[in-house]
Amino acid sequence: MKSILGRDSVGVLSQLGWSRVLLAFDFDGTLAPIVAERGSARMRPRTRSLLRTLCRSYPCAVISGRSHEDVSARLEGAAVKYVVGNHGLEPGAGLAGFEREILRAKSLLSATLADRQGVDIEDKRYSLAIHFRKARHKALTREAIERAVAALPAPMRLIPGKLVVNVIPAKAPNKGDALLQLRATEQADTAFYIGDDATDEDVFELDQPGRLVTVRVGASRSSAAAYFVRSQLEVDALLEQLVNAREKHARLSG
Ligand SMILES: [Mg+2]
Repeated sequence: MKSILGRDSVGVLSQLGWSRVLLAFDFDGTLAPIVAERGSARMRPRTRSLLRTLCRSYPCAVISGRSHEDVSARLEGAAVKYVVGNHGLEPGAGLAGFEREILRAKSLLSATLADRQGVDIEDKRYSLAIHFRKARHKALTREAIERAVAALPAPMRLIPGKLVVNVIPAKAPNKGDALLQLRATEQADTAFYIGDDATDEDVFELDQPGRLVTVRVGASRSSAAAYFVRSQLEVDALLEQLVNAREKHARLSG
C-alpha cells in the first residue's frame, strides 16, 4: 500500500486528469468524518466545495452503506451524477424481494436481541445496520449479534463495520458490483474509488489491472486497496489534487 499523496504517486493522479474516469466515493469516514451520532454526519465546508468542483469536471458517484435517500440528502447540492445506497444494492433490481427478506430478518433480530443492552437496529429498508456503539460490553455484544444473524432462516451477508454489523441479503449486489456497473454505464476506461471500511473491500478486491485506482482512508496491512491517505482530514488534499489534475489537462488541451 502506497500513499496516494506521496511523490511516487504523482503520475497516478495526473493520469486520472487525462482519463475517461469515473470518480467514486464512500461517504461516512471518507467524505464526512465519523461522528458518534450517525444522524449528524456531514462534510466539512472545504470537502463540500471541492466535491462540487469535482462534479463539474468529472462524472462522480457516491456509493454508501446508508439508504439512497439518506446519503442523497447529505450531499448538500453537489451535482453527484450517481448516488448508490445500501452498500451497492439501491437503486437496482430485485428490491421488493430484498425488502421482504429484511422485514422478516428485522422482526426476528429484534426479538432475539431485545434484552441486549446498547443494541440499536437501523432499518434501511433493504439492509439493516445493527449498531452497538452504546453497548458496555462491545466484544460480547458483537458476538451475540453475529450469532443471531447466523441463525436467520434467509441467508444474509454480514459485513462488520466500526461498532456496527451490517446485514445484507446474500444475493444483493455489493459496492464492487455497483462500481463496475457505473463504470460501464459511463463508458469510462477507468474508475477511482476511495473508502474506509470493510464494505469498501468489495471494491478494493476487484481485479481490474489498469482500470481501477483504489484508495483507503487509513493505511492497513489487511486491506486490498492499492493506495492510502493517512486520515479522513487528508481526503481534502486528495480531492484538491484531482481538481488540479483536471484543470491542468483542460489548460494544456484547450
Ligand atoms: Mg465509510
